[in-house]
Amino acid sequence: MNEVKSPKKPLIYYYAIALIILMLLNIFVMPQLMKPHVSEVDYGTFISMTESSDIGYVQVQDNQIIFTDKNEENIYKTGVMDDPGLTERLYNSGAKFSQEIVQEASPIAALFFSWILPTLIFIGIGQLISRRITNKMGGSNSMMFGMGKSKAKIYVRSTSGIKFSDVAGEDEAKENLSEIVDYLHNPEKYSSIGASMPKGILLVGPPGTGKTMLAKAVAGESNVPFFSISGSEFVEMFVGMGASKVRDLFSQAKEKAPCIVFIDEIDAIGKKRDGQPGGNDEREQTLNQLLTEMDGFEENTGVIILAATNRPESLDPALLRPGRFDRRVPVELPDLKGRAEILKVHARKIKTDPNIDYSTIARMASGASGAELANIVNEAALRAVRSGRNSVTQADMEESIEVVIAGYQKKNAILSDREKRIVAYHETGHALAAALQTHSAPVQKITIIPRTSGALGYTMQIDEGNHYLMSKEELENKIATYTAGRAAEEVVFGSVTTGASNDIEQATKLARAMIARYGMSEDFDMVAMESVTNQYLGGDNSLACSPETQAKIDAAVVDIVKTQHQKARKLLEANREKLDALTLYLYEKETITGDEFMQILNKE
Ligand code: ADP
Ligand code: ZN
Repeated sequence: MNEVKSPKKPLIYYYAIALIILMLLNIFVMPQLMKPHVSEVDYGTFISMTESSDIGYVQVQDNQIIFTDKNEENIYKTGVMDDPGLTERLYNSGAKFSQEIVQEASPIAALFFSWILPTLIFIGIGQLISRRITNKMGGSNSMMFGMGKSKAKIYVRSTSGIKFSDVAGEDEAKENLSEIVDYLHNPEKYSSIGASMPKGILLVGPPGTGKTMLAKAVAGESNVPFFSISGSEFVEMFVGMGASKVRDLFSQAKEKAPCIVFIDEIDAIGKKRDGQPGGNDEREQTLNQLLTEMDGFEENTGVIILAATNRPESLDPALLRPGRFDRRVPVELPDLKGRAEILKVHARKIKTDPNIDYSTIARMASGASGAELANIVNEAALRAVRSGRNSVTQADMEESIEVVIAGYQKKNAILSDREKRIVAYHETGHALAAALQTHSAPVQKITIIPRTSGALGYTMQIDEGNHYLMSKEELENKIATYTAGRAAEEVVFGSVTTGASNDIEQATKLARAMIARYGMSEDFDMVAMESVTNQYLGGDNSLACSPETQAKIDAAVVDIVKTQHQKARKLLEANREKLDALTLYLYEKETITGDEFMQILNKE
């Protein structure tokens, strides 16, 4: 997304203006103020003025004589002559001798113009620059002035805040957190028995599952102030500022107790301290301060700290020990029922057809997070507006799932006829293999309309419910289904294309997991060969075995995929007429539903 920003003038521009102003002041204004006007006259005038007793004050210097007239209105000056009787004559004429005729401009004005004004101008520029810098750094106003003030936003207690009913699904998390709500309503109930609430509660789960919402809901239900800050906001440019922000946050929170402090992305400060030289000093100091603060306040003060992270394994163990974040609440991706509920919660905010079947949509959107489901509902509403209707239909919802999963339809992508045939065979291959293997989920929809994500077509499979366990056969069939697209190309065209790259990746990942994590091969038995380091963010794997074993694992992975690929090929060869018939139908219609597919498949 391109942000449109008003063009900003470079800093040098402000400096130049300031310099010019100062120069002008020095050249024109200062001399006027510093020196009164002195007119130069010849020595004769001086003598005649002396004789006519017209001189008020006089001052004889080494190289000039400065004098005023009787009324002290004008100041004159003239050169010095060898004039022995001058002093006596001046005395006789009634002139007063003075040290200072040309008075310096008032010392205050001089001070003002030579020191205060420039200083003010430069402070002004400094302010301007610092504001610009902090704007660039994300609007923090804590850069140079008011260092390290906490920016935790205070959500004033309100009755219209988020409630648990706004968070759909996540029943276990809500149940766990409602204890906190109860405690905040009625602390004596707990303290009278001697029970103390955990100081910190860690919400753990993938992005977009509603962790922030849950924290807000706890505050909303308990009707207490809510401070929220993101872990990354603590980490500042200068060492020590993050720590001072933490101190500030806690002193604010203690004043407002009972209250809830929510730290999002706590892994930004709570990473394991490795103690290596050149480590991140600022982050470690901030973390130490956080630990100190958490130890510092007494139990039952009413300050409850909720924190969210999607990388719990990277957190410093000191943070997780009892007395700090000792309770961990998992906030997982929603299951089928949860997805339907989340869709309904968000559909309440838009106008919908009364007969939308949310469970079908939830089934199609398998694996989607709460945030993605919210996005799907919004996309559906936008689609309804675009097509000039005033309520959202089932079709809008279904199309928007595809938009969120695969991107918008590419209206003007032109596939050659041969390419389109290849794509049709490839996708039918996936779908047919999935349908023929009893263990695989039936297809919901196949389409060969290119999408902006780069997919030329895809097969949407749906789970008929929630799977918590998968058997070895199911996994193998899944791999066979991944390879079936390529297999169809081979069976029909005798050549292969680049279209299978994503399939290859998925199949390899599954096969590797079968061996290294699920212990599904005879050679390695139940020995863990790799561990998942990032389970909520895509899941990076790290191998934990010798290079020789690694080589064997690689060979075994190839073996599994090869076997399944051959299985898929045989399956498609044996059902060649079905493959052709289904592909022809798909080629003509471009999008077919699971029902249509099954009809053709079951037609004798
Ligand atoms: P997280 O903090 O886990 O990354 P958020 O709480 O910020 O996720 O959720 C982002 C958005 O997703 C929310 O504003 C909400 O619209 C939607 N959302 C996520 N989970 C749920 C849920 N369980 N119920 C309703 N809406 C949800
Ligand atoms: Zn494919």
